[in-house]
Amino acid sequence: MQINSLMKKIKEGLLRDYDKEVDRASVQEVHNVVAKIAITEISKAWHESENRFNTNRHAYFLSAEFLMGRAVQNNLICMGIYDEVKEALNQLGFDINKFEEIEDMALGNGGLGRLAACFLDSAASVNVPLKGYGIRYKYGLFKQKIEEGFQKEYADNWTSFGDEWSLRRFEDSIKIRFKDIEVLAVPYDMPIIGYENDNIGTLRLWQSEAIEDFDFDLFNNCKYDEAIRNKTIAENISAGLYPNDNTYEGKILRFRQQYFFSSASLQDLIRKYKELHGKDFSKLVSLNTIQLNDTHPVIAIPEFIRLMTLENNVEFDDAFNMAKEIFNYTNHTVMAEALEKWDVNLVKDLVPEVYEVIEKINEKLIEELTDLKVKKEDLDKYEVIKDNQVHMARLATYIGKYINGVAEIHSEILKKDTLKEWYEIYPDKFQNKTNGITQRRWLASCNKELTELYSRLLGDKSFLKDLSKLKELEKYSENKDIIDEFIQIKKNKKRELIDYIYKHEGIKLEEHFILDVQIKRLHEYKRQFMNALSILDIYFRLKDGELKDFTPTAFIFGGKAAPGYARAKAIIKFINEIADLINNDKDVQDKLKVVFVQNYNVSYAEKLIPGANVSEQISTAGTEASGTGNMKFMLNGAVTLGTYDGANIEIVREAGEENNYIFGATEEEVLRIKDSYDPVEIYNKDKHIKRVIDTLVDGTFSDGYEEEEVTEVKDGVEEATDENIEKEEIETVEEKLIEGTFKELYYALLKGTHWHKADHYFILNDLERYFNARIKLSNDYKNEYEFARKCFINSVNAGFFSSDRTIKEYAEEIWKL
Ligand SMILES: *Cc1c(COP(=O)(O)O)cnc(C)c1O
Repeated sequence: MQINSLMKKIKEGLLRDYDKEVDRASVQEVHNVVAKIAITEISKAWHESENRFNTNRHAYFLSAEFLMGRAVQNNLICMGIYDEVKEALNQLGFDINKFEEIEDMALGNGGLGRLAACFLDSAASVNVPLKGYGIRYKYGLFKQKIEEGFQKEYADNWTSFGDEWSLRRFEDSIKIRFKDIEVLAVPYDMPIIGYENDNIGTLRLWQSEAIEDFDFDLFNNCKYDEAIRNKTIAENISAGLYPNDNTYEGKILRFRQQYFFSSASLQDLIRKYKELHGKDFSKLVSLNTIQLNDTHPVIAIPEFIRLMTLENNVEFDDAFNMAKEIFNYTNHTVMAEALEKWDVNLVKDLVPEVYEVIEKINEKLIEELTDLKVKKEDLDKYEVIKDNQVHMARLATYIGKYINGVAEIHSEILKKDTLKEWYEIYPDKFQNKTNGITQRRWLASCNKELTELYSRLLGDKSFLKDLSKLKELEKYSENKDIIDEFIQIKKNKKRELIDYIYKHEGIKLEEHFILDVQIKRLHEYKRQFMNALSILDIYFRLKDGELKDFTPTAFIFGGKAAPGYARAKAIIKFINEIADLINNDKDVQDKLKVVFVQNYNVSYAEKLIPGANVSEQISTAGTEASGTGNMKFMLNGAVTLGTYDGANIEIVREAGEENNYIFGATEEEVLRIKDSYDPVEIYNKDKHIKRVIDTLVDGTFSDGYEEEEVTEVKDGVEEATDENIEKEEIETVEEKLIEGTFKELYYALLKGTHWHKADHYFILNDLERYFNARIKLSNDYKNEYEFARKCFINSVNAGFFSSDRTIKEYAEEIWKL
């Protein structure tokens, strides 16, 4: 596009929509006008892409979450007009970087939702016909502030300045019927712009609205609240994203959300099919395939059969067989607390016809298992309806044509453990699809300097379409000039990050510090707690002079805790207490800094990742399905300090274990020691470990627990922290005395609770090895050049982790497109 014509359009747009000249317009207003221009520009290509999509075999991606982040920079880059728009705005006196004030679209919690976003981007860019279906939550993931060291949550009203990248398609609305209410699902379509091609995909998000949202009779009788009762009830369904990551909550509203978007998406798909092919459904499964992103949309399976049988006159057996062809299921976790099971009564009460279908599916399952000679006493392990609950993962595994995990280790765990009995009878269903990330956002958009270097060395930007090309750059790892340039780029990105953190958190970091970053949802299994304890250990060892020559390091944390997850919130407070202690201690100012950044989200990740030296990926082996944050860091030239877990294993396979810092128990070790594991033994034996764990109860830190009540429990605590503590002694402390969240953390580590054993994520088991890996890293970093070489080798070997590769594997091996 011509710069002059762009300037003209922007000026006209601002006058037309806001009656303003550029200098008076707000950032949001300028943004909205630019978005409108872009949408107009792509509208023809979008329309043509949708026609192509419908006429050939295509795939649907059903996901309760899409963590899209900010659209504007990415979209302009993919359209190939970023530089022109930047220049046009510049000439109008507007700095394009101000778009960093634009709200993120945060309709997801973490990795699962971001994966969905990366997949759509990749599918559009590599011409895989994929359409996303989800929920248009009015409020996305809460905004986080840290106040007095505590997490506070605020509503994320992300559309308050409009939603210019979406189009409301009211004419495509669909009715969704629950037993008690009927609502309207209104679609909003967002274009997914392929990178420098003419392919535009679609993300269709459903918003729940009332069919009749206003009752005049009631209004005229002055019953104002009642007059809009329908509206309130209906709009509740898509009002908010549940803020839980890897946990399941059996809430009615959550079930309504799942059914709402699953049914709307299927009805949309079937309607489109009928428009083109009439009521002959013989081609339905050869033209359509559906990917279920975790169990959240699994209710789509019985809903599909219900729609085909009750609303389209298809025989049950035929509909059942179609379901077995059309659905595929991706499992995202082995965490028991995340496996969805719905109460039979809840399902029956809300969608009785769907429940009847589930019963029939269960009957089919029992028949099939009997044919397969599964023993009667083993049927329990398979049944979809068991103990008055509907087991969603079982339903998905039974009906799904293909089932996949998201990293090699994870897919193996599914086969040998989580879904073992299913693998025994249906081995051919099981696949692995190692996750990936889109290099358009996680390199081109967030690290223009590194993109520039790689384009120059490779001669073009084709690696933005085929990331495996980076491998050709490995030869430069021996080239001093190139590594020096690479070092300079990292320094620039560090400086940018340091400024950004200063602006947002008020803490000044220094460039010569190692920037060691752990950013992800706050979860016990991800072990931010272990990181915190280890930092404290380093601090004490610096203070008492035991640790010399430690390379100055800034430890950066970011991540949200589910609002109801008390222990995760306690860990945030603990990290902030440590930060307070360390950042205010003059003795260590030249060695240590700790920052917990507020409101970690996609846009913050785009700042943190290019500036990081060290990527913390320290989950207990066997708990993180894949991780995708690890891949983003690798691509941007950070080393991984991590465990043998998730995709870390594949990362070091690609980039070399010698270029990363892998430590700690393997999954095999964890399984081996599990039953006999005794953290108290380690605590008693290792004075360093004892010292840091005791800070939880010896008054070093405050968790904000009321003074008076603290005195009450004091006796018990003093007893428990005595020098010669024995396990038995800890157990004598009554559980009711555990008041105050730091004490709760203390007992979780050393004693356990009625719902888990002591230190169930094996933190103490890994702490020493973690410390040793950190010291090795700290020493290696002193050789700036050698360390940068490691970083460079990681970056140029990240090709495998492009979501373009992942999406092509889905397209070929699961969707058969
Ligand atoms: C990539 C990403 C995640 C996933 O991070 P993991 O370290 O893999 O858990 C979560 N949140 C945001 C905002 C992300 O960009």
